[in-house]
Amino acid sequence: MIIHLTEGSTEEQQKAVLKRIGDDGFSHEIIHGTTGIDVIGVLGDLSGVEISRYSELDGVAKVVRISKPYKLVSREYAAGAEQQFKATKTIEVGDVTIGGDELTIMAGPCAVESEEQVMAVAEYVSEMGIPIMRGGAYKPRTSPYSFQGMGLEALQLLAKARDKYGLKLIIEASGLHRHMRADDSLEKNNVLENVISYADIIQVGARNMKSYGFLQELGLLTKNTKTPILLKRGDSSPLQDFLLAAEYIVRSGNPNVMLCLRGIQTFEEDKFQRSTPDIGAIAVLKRESNLPVIFDPSHSTGYRENVRSVSLAAVAAGADGLLIETHNNPANALCDGEQSIMKDELASIKSAADKIRKLVR
Ligand code: PEP
Ligand code: MN
Repeated sequence: MIIHLTEGSTEEQQKAVLKRIGDDGFSHEIIHGTTGIDVIGVLGDLSGVEISRYSELDGVAKVVRISKPYKLVSREYAAGAEQQFKATKTIEVGDVTIGGDELTIMAGPCAVESEEQVMAVAEYVSEMGIPIMRGGAYKPRTSPYSFQGMGLEALQLLAKARDKYGLKLIIEASGLHRHMRADDSLEKNNVLENVISYADIIQVGARNMKSYGFLQELGLLTKNTKTPILLKRGDSSPLQDFLLAAEYIVRSGNPNVMLCLRGIQTFEEDKFQRSTPDIGAIAVLKRESNLPVIFDPSHSTGYRENVRSVSLAAVAAGADGLLIETHNNPANALCDGEQSIMKDELASIKSAADKIRKLVR
């Protein structure tokens, strides 16, 4: 539920509204309007509550119930209903703004494989003016015999690249607490805490979209830092479930969530595309939610030949950013080489995508 205060509402009137919210057993969030507090979000199970309990209070202009099952991430909520088609929340990662006028590209290898690879990719990514680098340290793989990531060593290499090239890092946290190295030994530190301490943006992968306990834990662990979280859509998850998964994180204390589409499973065959790019979902998420929308043209296609056209289509459809896999030597990549593009292709996509963003804003 959203409470709109009148333009000249006094501090006393505002306090009385907040007191009633508290007395009724609900929590609140102040949604800053243009002039101080003018919109308050009320959180909790409001199904039995009469709107008049709040609309009758002095200083209240109107009360709007959010009809959607997802509340905090809904378009209505952020915008205070009025300007609902304008309100995408912007997320700041240092000096980078996600969800604003500029398109945000995040690029890097699927997994960190060596110092030489990380540094080579970081160099060309930063040269192109791409501010955020991706790189997996702990890879959730379908087979326990596939490469599981370099773990802590990967985090240290990424941090080295960040320091040298001034990049921000997006790193996946898988909910894993213990990492088994290739020689079956266990990494000492807690994996989740490691990732949180190194990442500028924490990625939650498609496989974990439904790990609700993990989503809550992540929200709680980042409640103070508000480190941005990029949540990927499960490859067989309806959009409503996706939005509710984002709601779990926001509800647990971290509002800085962005939604990432990465393709869904259909009857499509692997030989043409690994998943079906869910471009149409961009429009739906923009209409339904207030969170920035990122598109992953790498996992949604599976082949580097398809990455350019799908990237540009996603930006034309309104995506606020792209998460792209790139590698300095994709033929020898340990993970997702077939869908990784090389330097020149990345530069060419960036230049076209930036132009499209300007056209559609
Ligand atoms: C990845 O980004 O490398 C990854 C594993 O993606 P997804 O969770 O979308 O499969
Ligand atoms: Mn990958």
